Amino acid sequence: MTGRPPKGKLLGVVAMDGPSGTGKSTVSRRFARDGGAAYLDTGAMYRAVTLAVLRAGLPADASTDAVLAVARAARLRSGTDPCAPHIELDGEDVEAEIRGGEVTRAVSVVSAVPAVRRLLVQRQRDLIADALVETGGAVVEGRDIGSVVLPDAPLKVYLTAPAEVRAARRAAQDRKAGRIADLDAVLADVRRRDELDSTRATSPLHAAPDAVVLDTDGLSVDAVLARLTELSHERGLLT
Ligand code: C5P
Repeated sequence: MTGRPPKGKLLGVVAMDGPSGTGKSTVSRRFARDGGAAYLDTGAMYRAVTLAVLRAGLPADASTDAVLAVARAARLRSGTDPCAPHIELDGEDVEAEIRGGEVTRAVSVVSAVPAVRRLLVQRQRDLIADALVETGGAVVEGRDIGSVVLPDAPLKVYLTAPAEVRAARRAAQDRKAGRIADLDAVLADVRRRDELDSTRATSPLHAAPDAVVLDTDGLSVDAVLARLTELSHERGLLT
């Protein structure tokens, strides 16, 4: 990772929300790393639970009770080091597997189950509290961080970009990671997940009323980081 470091140490929490392909992960990791803070990828937690559901032989739309039982039993361990993000499911590093097509197709259905969300939101709050004790600062990315997980976060940012731009970024990332990426299929998946994530009954994807909305179309990663630095200074989060 490269990029201009923020001027100082990040103290407090930055909530980073937005749909897939907005550059959330790249900027969140980099901002956390440069500010000496923790980083939590909540999407990886929903993906790991989805993998557990699939490994249990269940369809993504199995009964709430069945999905919840798997989610409860799944032993998740989320790393919060921005230089080495990883997640374990039952003692196995599943960071690569959760990014594959099978999990990506199923994750929005599993993450729409209210009881699964309650379970993971509690775990996320615990992880963030621990990380704050350890490092004093955290960048947390997801879909509902500013609206549900951390409604009192001192800085909430909602990244957005047109679906075509996001799909092109996703396809490039997939190719870089050695996964097959057909642009039309990626665009269809981005649109399908947008629809599912923003229309579900519990914690739908939307910008919190007090979030700063940033359209990343045409913005470089460095430009987004510069804006985050500016906002963090304004809120007194960078020493
Ligand atoms: O961020 P990522 O694309 O890995 O997230 C995968 C999926 O997990 C999203 O499409 C969404 O369905 C779900 N998710 C969620 N709430 C979060 C993070 C992710 O519902 N906080």
